[in-house]
Amino acid sequence: MTYDTNNIFAKILRGEIPCNKVHEDEYCIAFHDITPAAPVHVLVIPKGQYTSFHDFTAQAPAGMIQGFFASVRAVAMKLGVDQNGYRLVSNHGADASQSVPHFHVHILAGRSLGALLP
Ligand code: AMP
Repeated sequence: MTYDTNNIFAKILRGEIPCNKVHEDEYCIAFHDITPAAPVHVLVIPKGQYTSFHDFTAQAPAGMIQGFFASVRAVAMKLGVDQNGYRLVSNHGADASQSVPHFHVHILAGRSLGALLP
């Protein structure tokens, strides 16, 4: 899939539209989901043009992949959800209902999340 530079997360990365940011470092920014599915629902997106997890893990340099996932862990710590637990979700493609074509990891937490799928 060709990267769409006009997707909403690309615009957030460029600072063209606002977000409720909780973390930023050299690898990523993290911000609250606009339609939270849990009491804590934060998106972590890499600083780079990657369409999904499947693209990111194939195309990004190893240091970027390592740094990004270390940042996801750091965000979970910052949110204070590491003790009670959290779920990571990353949708790739149509069957997963990916709606924004910029790789992102959802951090979901703040209550018992129950079964993996409804
Ligand atoms: P996905 O369906 O995995 O592609 O997830 C995309 C997520 O982005 C959804 O949970 C949306 O609620 C969220 N989202 C879309 N636009 C924004 C925005 N401007 N700020 C924050 N979250 C957004």
